[in-house]
Amino acid sequence: MRAERMLRGALMKALALVGLHPWLTCRECVRLVTEFLEGALSPEDRALVLAHLKGCPHCPRYVRQIELAVQLAGATTSNSVPPATRAQLLDAFRRERHRPPEEET
Ligand SMILES: [Zn+2]
Repeated sequence: MRAERMLRGALMKALALVGLHPWLTCRECVRLVTEFLEGALSPEDRALVLAHLKGCPHCPRYVRQIELAVQLAGATTSNSVPPATRAQLLDAFRRERHRPPEEET
């Protein structure tokens, strides 16, 4: 089981590195974005998201919007945003994930 997971992770990472990520659609990218911004993704998923963002004309804009919103939410009191508020905000974006910015690539 562990070897299987490691193999799958290595494969995904290698494919992402060469820009082959046929299974990561915009919808999936959007689904992973909040975890991506929270730094909660595995290195493999992170590599997939980064690879997708590099090749996608739509998702980087979406990610910037979320980043900006998170920053604005934190701007008034610098880094002292209550974790609950931040979680609520990220959760709101999570609920939007069934609505990807453009059609899937
Ligand atoms: Zn995309």
